[in-house]
Amino acid sequence: MKTYQGKGVYGAVAVGKISVLKKRDAAVKRTHVENAESEKARFEQAKSLAIQQLQEIYDKALKEVGEANAAIFEIHQMMLEDDDYNDSINTIIENQSVNAEYAVAVTEDNFAEMFAAMDDTYMKARAADVRDISNRLINTLSENIQTETASDEKVIICAADLAPSETVALDKDRVLAFVTAYGSSNSHTAILARNMNIPAVISAGEKFLAEIRDGDEAVVDGYTGEIFVNPDKETRSRLLEKQRAGDEKKRLLQELKGKENVTLDGCRINVYANIGSVGDIGKVLANDAGGIGLFRSEFLYLENSDYPTEEQQFNAYKKVLESMAGKKVIIRTLDIGADKQVDYFNLKKEENPALGYRAIRICLTRPEIFKTQLRALYRASVFGSLGIMFPMITSVSELKRILAVCDEVKEELREQCIEFSDKIELGIMIETPAAALISDKLAPMVDFFSVGTNDLTQYTLACDRQNPDIEQFIDTHHEAILRLIEMSAKNAHKHGAWIGICGELGADTSLTETFLRMGIDELSVSPAFVLKVRDTIRSIDLSK
Ligand code: PEP
Ligand code: MG
Repeated sequence: MKTYQGKGVYGAVAVGKISVLKKRDAAVKRTHVENAESEKARFEQAKSLAIQQLQEIYDKALKEVGEANAAIFEIHQMMLEDDDYNDSINTIIENQSVNAEYAVAVTEDNFAEMFAAMDDTYMKARAADVRDISNRLINTLSENIQTETASDEKVIICAADLAPSETVALDKDRVLAFVTAYGSSNSHTAILARNMNIPAVISAGEKFLAEIRDGDEAVVDGYTGEIFVNPDKETRSRLLEKQRAGDEKKRLLQELKGKENVTLDGCRINVYANIGSVGDIGKVLANDAGGIGLFRSEFLYLENSDYPTEEQQFNAYKKVLESMAGKKVIIRTLDIGADKQVDYFNLKKEENPALGYRAIRICLTRPEIFKTQLRALYRASVFGSLGIMFPMITSVSELKRILAVCDEVKEELREQCIEFSDKIELGIMIETPAAALISDKLAPMVDFFSVGTNDLTQYTLACDRQNPDIEQFIDTHHEAILRLIEMSAKNAHKHGAWIGICGELGADTSLTETFLRMGIDELSVSPAFVLKVRDTIRSIDLSK
């Protein structure tokens, strides 16, 4: 048995086989092949497999996110059948006697460059699709050797690290647990892992990655961050017992469903859930959350290989609002940039992306993207109780510009006789020290604040949330952060606005009482933490 220590980011235990997620090497190797015909046959086989995979993804997406969002996977299947694309790959294999992976990579580069050079923005965006289908082919080609025996068995996914876009692409029905060698606990990957409701450990180390093999049996303890590979009998049964006890605790929490979020002395607070996609609604309902306090809408963009259209977005927002049947749904406008990179945005590489061109800065400088999203949101507003929230605010002038765009969008919709609700709440995220410090000026301009403690911590303590090497310097309970939250709460209430917390700190039950004493009106947490937070609230007595 070998034991590795990482950081648990979602407490639960999993027992199963390891599947190492391999990423494509930056450069595909060129190798000489003797038999071009059999190499071409290998390519054909990989192509059929890729088309089959895409069909499965399409079927799943159709159920989860609707036809408009699923359509891209049908387009990818057609692209794989494209004659020019296929001719190019087969000709390279034949003429140069090279491996299929190399022929695909060269074709990918040629086609992607050709699309990128086109004037038409639609055709330009096809470059990302060519890259996507070619990556799939190359991965399929290199996995062909090992995945012959792959079954539907659930596995423990192990990887060096995962980008948010890779995490969303994982087939969640096949993931038992999730272990990465690197990564930090406040990264979006860790947040997504928590949202997936499965044991997750990050930062397990280089040695872990070097020593594990596909098919190794392992036990992942998401509570302690330990991973036992080829566990001995005693460890295995100890952890199975822990798994049983954990499941039992979660079962008991289910009994809180339908009960009020009220302290022993009668203080009420809303407990909402955070989601990243329409597919997460099931978990929100299963955990009986009072609403959605943060829908990270950028994941709609991450799941797509092109800008989601107004119609696609409208359908997604409408679905969330309808599913929540009148309960509050707060949708955050696009928060792309920093660690959430989307190819088709063509963002420049930055020295300090967390301090760079991201979120509202993109929206305010690329109004066509912002307005498309706002139109979709306003149109969807008639299907439920919508709140729109803007990320990364640092100044009053930014907020004035945002509100002016909202007015423009409303005016356009009125002119086109398109209905929208007049009860939409507008709010901002308090996730920069600047926003907290001028919260007295911002509060009169909005209906609510939502504190993004993940970024607020990063910016207040000058600690990059993506950097695992400085985790020891990240004190999430730092007095400076708590003071900024308290200051924002006071200013919100003074001007008639309400205030919630949607960062990960909202689920830290050792602070629930502190937040209640500050007058926080709402806590929005990963769906799996809703009942735990509710249980804590019901045990607090503020009169003491
Ligand atoms: C935050 O910063 O706390 C937040 C909720 O936003 P995100 O984690 O998506 O940056
Ligand atoms: Mg944030």
